[in-house]
Amino acid sequence: MKVLVVGSGGREHALCWSIAKSAKLSKLYCAPGNAGIKDVAECVNVGAEDVDGVVAFAKDNAIDLVVVGPEAPLVLGMVDKLEEAGIKAFGPSAAASVLEGSKGFMKDMCAKAGVPTAGYGRFTDADKAKDFIRENGAPIVVKTDGLAAGKGVIICESVEEAFKAVDDMMGEKIFGDAGNEIVIEDFLRGEECSFFALVDGERALPLAAAQDHKAAYDGDKGPNTGGMGAYSPTPIASPEICDKIMETAITPLIKTMAAEGCPYKGVLFCGLMVENGVPTVLEYNIRFGDPECQVLMMRWKSDVLEALEAAAEGRLDDISLEWHDETAMVVVMAAEGYPGSYEKGTEIKNLADANGVENAFVFHAGTKAEGDKVLATGGRVLGVTGRGQSVKQAQATTYQAVDAIDWPKGFCRRDIGWRAVERENS
Ligand code: ATP
Repeated sequence: MKVLVVGSGGREHALCWSIAKSAKLSKLYCAPGNAGIKDVAECVNVGAEDVDGVVAFAKDNAIDLVVVGPEAPLVLGMVDKLEEAGIKAFGPSAAASVLEGSKGFMKDMCAKAGVPTAGYGRFTDADKAKDFIRENGAPIVVKTDGLAAGKGVIICESVEEAFKAVDDMMGEKIFGDAGNEIVIEDFLRGEECSFFALVDGERALPLAAAQDHKAAYDGDKGPNTGGMGAYSPTPIASPEICDKIMETAITPLIKTMAAEGCPYKGVLFCGLMVENGVPTVLEYNIRFGDPECQVLMMRWKSDVLEALEAAAEGRLDDISLEWHDETAMVVVMAAEGYPGSYEKGTEIKNLADANGVENAFVFHAGTKAEGDKVLATGGRVLGVTGRGQSVKQAQATTYQAVDAIDWPKGFCRRDIGWRAVERENS
């Protein structure tokens, strides 16, 4: 099979790394790729959001399957356009992608499907929003309906704070049009985890649960980021809780989406709060998490390409998955200053030494090759990934690989997996 992966991050490097191991693969391309991806795929100079460019490349090169990594091209309808052109694609349609793009749509789907989620209201009128806040009291959560780069969620400790959030979003428009409509939600307590499933329009196959670390610095301090590390499996999502998530949050949702005329196909990423063994849905995303994808690919033992193709063709019944019976961890190395401003073009050395650590691998996110050199080009730059028999062992392997890397202008958290390690120690 000839396969094209769309994207240029650590997630897409992990996808390419796994797909490259498939016996079914004859040729792998990535658009546009990065300095790590070029070792396993031919990188092509087409942007990830260039829908027409990707369709033209796929047609010209007789691609058998396109795997779309990030959400932006999915929301733009890349899968719809590929399928119209007769090309198989892994990922949801634009209509199904609204699940991530509109929190109001997502909450309405949950209500229709009976998925457990926080009580809510949808508002386009600030006075009505404030009446709802007065009735429900604090703590309460105010969210933009549309995407706001992870910043459109304000957890309010008081009614006054919630009123201000409404005024900022709807009056001051601090998140632009994303705040034209808002969702107000009950505050949920507990510990967060992510759960991933493959979906073929009608059926879902569980992948695994992971826990990520959004804050920039150790101890979950500092500004929020795209994710500084993750590990899988996580003790917060025991096998029983994973079964419960499939039963209450995945299967009913995909049945409802099909019944509503927007069947879901691709990977479904569910963010949940778990309290006393009860999972409640916070959000759905329409793609693999980055960096969670890196740990899923590190644990995934059977043929990834075969499973993604089956999901795209609506025949997940044919597939059974095998996993490495170990914990995988990813530690993100970012440029100093991230998530604020940072220097670009600094050199990273000794990557071969890190890849020489047994059971470790370095996925590239924001890198480019210049001659023999690897240069940092983004905020989150590397995803150093390792496997071990316990979270503590996975952590030891991963940080051994991190310490082998010579990049004075980079930093990482030193405590990825701390909650699970505390549990292992107790
Ligand atoms: P954006 O749309 O701006 O990109 P997002 O999709 O990341 O944001 P959510 O995942 O809904 O937004 O929320 C972000 C974070 O806020 C969650 O990971 C969680 O920590 C917290 N959060 C969201 N909703 C609630 C809630 N009802 N109760 C408690 N915490 C919440």
